[in-house]
Amino acid sequence: MGMQEAVQKQKTVIVVGAGPAGLMAAEGICAAGHQVHVYDAKPSACRKFLLAGVGGMNITHSEAYPDFIQRYYDKAEWLDSAIRQFNADALRDWIHGLGIETFIGTSGRVFPKDMKAAPLLRNWLKRLRDAGVQFHMRHKMVALSDNQVEFEHVGENITAQADAIVLAMGGASWPKLGSDGAWVPVLSEKGIAVAPLQSANCGFYCEWSDHLKTKFAGSPLKDVAFSFTLADGKKVTKKGECIVTQDGMEGSLIYAFSKYLRDGINDSGRSSLSMDFLPLQSDEQVIKKLRNTKPKESFSKYLKRTLNITGVKTALLHESFPKEVFQTPESLAHCLKAVPVHFHKTKPIEEVISSAGGVCEASVDDVFMLKAMPGVFCAGEMLDWEAPTGGYLLTACFATGHLAAKGVNEFLERNE
Ligand SMILES: Cc1cc2nc3c(=O)[nH]c(=O)nc-3n(C[C@H](O)[C@H](O)[C@H](O)COP(=O)(O)OP(=O)(O)OC[C@H]3O[C@@H](n4cnc5c(N)ncnc54)[C@H](O)[C@@H]3O)c2cc1C
Repeated sequence: MGMQEAVQKQKTVIVVGAGPAGLMAAEGICAAGHQVHVYDAKPSACRKFLLAGVGGMNITHSEAYPDFIQRYYDKAEWLDSAIRQFNADALRDWIHGLGIETFIGTSGRVFPKDMKAAPLLRNWLKRLRDAGVQFHMRHKMVALSDNQVEFEHVGENITAQADAIVLAMGGASWPKLGSDGAWVPVLSEKGIAVAPLQSANCGFYCEWSDHLKTKFAGSPLKDVAFSFTLADGKKVTKKGECIVTQDGMEGSLIYAFSKYLRDGINDSGRSSLSMDFLPLQSDEQVIKKLRNTKPKESFSKYLKRTLNITGVKTALLHESFPKEVFQTPESLAHCLKAVPVHFHKTKPIEEVISSAGGVCEASVDDVFMLKAMPGVFCAGEMLDWEAPTGGYLLTACFATGHLAAKGVNEFLERNE
């Protein structure tokens, strides 16, 4: 291709949102030779990505693909094509290409070698700038049409035009980092179906007694298993730990159930889990230990001596059952292995790790182009999927950004 032809072929693309999804889209579109302009409401890129790096950046997961893809629940089939084309191995190779080594932790989670996000981001931004991607910070999208975006920039409204547009404005958790969900009405007003943004990977509220609140708020609940019974009767059980708070529960084990609990609350106003305080012991083993009674021993001492059940676990047991059911080893064992806990609300979206909801599957084609707005693509957490922690969130953000870029490049080629 001659110089003149190359320049003629080069199109202008706007990416709104400088998070991992937007930057991945920008990289793929720039690589096809187009001029990419990335706009973001905040003064700097990838603020949430950087925060994610503070507690140890878990970028993807090493489990086998069939298990991996099921982490996206009922959206697994929808995301399959994107994630297959940019799976955990491809993502790791891409990170290595930025000069950052990765390792697999004991849980199978994948991390950058130093656990941090900042070095990776620094190298990536440099590579993007060197390739010619232009950044326009402090530009907040306020309106959108087929080939034009209106931004608010330091108190003024400006418009920018492009041959294609990628929207990657994230969900609505931690809004102070930039993704505040303000894009929802902009798209909804255009008749684009957007599922409401809701808390995901979140804690939940429940009502504890004053005794539990004053004595045990902040207590960790360790070596327990939680079970949730799905509508079809199947039981989901996971082991782990969480924290009993003043008004509910927080921590990794409860987060892992957040989709099920939230969906249940949405349906009926309430959702319940069953807690097993002795997940490594069978009913029979527990009953056998409980048969070893001593006269005049207090109930709490008896529980501690026979099964090492103490503190918050004993309090939760009293919270859930009347004393009468502790009379026989059989019924007490049954209680210890199935303590119910009821939740009525998710923690606020501002405080949680990620959000569910977003641009619906039916609103986009197979490369995430809005059916109602040809030339406008979506990527990342603003699409209507969710996943647990474990690197699945970032993987889907990168993968959808990657596929949206492919979609943009094909769209531009078709529309030469
Ligand atoms: C505390 C915490 C820890 C996390 N840890 C992990 C982890 O270890 N592993 C993992 O996989 N995931 C983790 N996540 C989730 C992960 O960071 C997000 O899923 C991911 O950043 C979403 O990427 P995104 O590009 O879709 O959106 P975002 O990263 O949210 O980026 C969206 C960008 O769009 C910009 N924007 C929004 N609205 C507008 C607008 N109207 N106009 C212009 N710009 C706009 C925002 O300023 C932002 O820069 C964590 C999240 C949090 C909060």
